[in-house]
Amino acid sequence: MLHLADNGQSAVLVKELVFILFFSLSALAIVILSFIGSSTTILAADEEEDFEENSLIKICCTWGIDIADGILTYSIVGDVDAEKKEAVHNAIQDWDDNIESIKFEEVSSTQENKNRPDIQIRFVNDGEQFKDEGPETAGNTKTRLDKSGFIDYNTIIIAEGGLGKTFNIKTIETIAKHEIGHALGLGHANFGSNLMTTKIESAAETISLCELEAVRQANSWILMNENEHDSSPSFPEITTVICES
Ligand SMILES: [Zn+2]
Repeated sequence: MLHLADNGQSAVLVKELVFILFFSLSALAIVILSFIGSSTTILAADEEEDFEENSLIKICCTWGIDIADGILTYSIVGDVDAEKKEAVHNAIQDWDDNIESIKFEEVSSTQENKNRPDIQIRFVNDGEQFKDEGPETAGNTKTRLDKSGFIDYNTIIIAEGGLGKTFNIKTIETIAKHEIGHALGLGHANFGSNLMTTKIESAAETISLCELEAVRQANSWILMNENEHDSSPSFPEITTVICES
């Protein structure tokens, strides 16, 4: 609860406070608005997401014009050992192999690369290092939208461990695969045994047809359009994809 004025404050101070509050709130709103696609993979959760009758995957976001050339660039930043890099490469390769019209291209993460990659991936030691989420966080994707609301770029953070445990390389690959799913426009699945489920322990390691359909639907303006060269970004009409059980 925030009270602006009480008996002891002069009118000028109140006015200043109102201004300060206004500008702080505006700044906060901008920060929130610019990362509205944040999705977190967690190790455990007490509350379930709004479960419905069907097994479904939510659609989060739609790529903008950057995907029109069929290429998504990515870079792995920071000092990442070869094994973890390979896990990320394997995760990306799996998506690449499964979506015919999108190719992932690794680009340098150095400053010579003036163009920001479409997907930037970095590692942290454990969930404690996530700024906005709890220590149970295994991975997080922040999706930056352009001013029309289409995906501009994504920042993925993967934890090397969490809650006192170090993840094995297979788990890191699964987290990476899940986070790339977010980067492609997916929200979470409302059921276990799926790559996009919120809990890493119950996540599938493989990409199913349902995730592929959800990616196609999310980016239907380019992935479901035969005449893709004369289309411009548009949002899908659906917000969820129902998965066959
Ligand atoms: Zn997630």
